[in-house]
Amino acid sequence: MRVSAMVRPTMTVTTVAAAALLWLPMPGCERGDPAAKPGGQKIPVPASAGNDAAEAAAHQHLAPHGGVLVELGDHDANAEMLLDPDTGRLRLWLLDGCAANSLRSEADEIRMLVILPATPDRGESMFNLTLDAVANPLTGETLGDTSEFSVTSEDLRGVRAFKGVIQRIEMHGERYSDVSFEYAPVGRGSGS
Ligand SMILES: [Zn+2]
Repeated sequence: MRVSAMVRPTMTVTTVAAAALLWLPMPGCERGDPAAKPGGQKIPVPASAGNDAAEAAAHQHLAPHGGVLVELGDHDANAEMLLDPDTGRLRLWLLDGCAANSLRSEADEIRMLVILPATPDRGESMFNLTLDAVANPLTGETLGDTSEFSVTSEDLRGVRAFKGVIQRIEMHGERYSDVSFEYAPVGRGSGS
């Protein structure tokens, strides 16, 4: 019938749109969504190709400690960093690909190169930092089996933003090397 020929293209568009909508509440990526279906029913993720824009839009992960997320691998894991400029303490937490759960590492330290931007007083500067594993009796994390690392550095006092390279992070048999990152906390109200 002629009508079905007319309708078909519209149906196709609708189907694509529905697929895009289904993509958004990706299991494990949704956070702070009280309207989530009870029972945690899983929604199959369409095996879409070339949908990077939609995927990026769906992946606005929140840093659980209010820090800055650095992706490790391809949606494998995250390193969340949070710097207290007053004390120069830099904390780092290892999280899963959607930054929802902590991941423990057997490493007892994480080394990184820090690059500070130029100021009116001096040019760009760089130095090495070693973050030590942090034990946490509350979570049962111990040195050699923890998701948290930390260092306090004079050189980080008063610093708001910096760039750097994480030299190596090992966990669960995976190794992430030379991970470049930019630590630039977003101010309040700046949205995405
Ligand atoms: Zn995700």
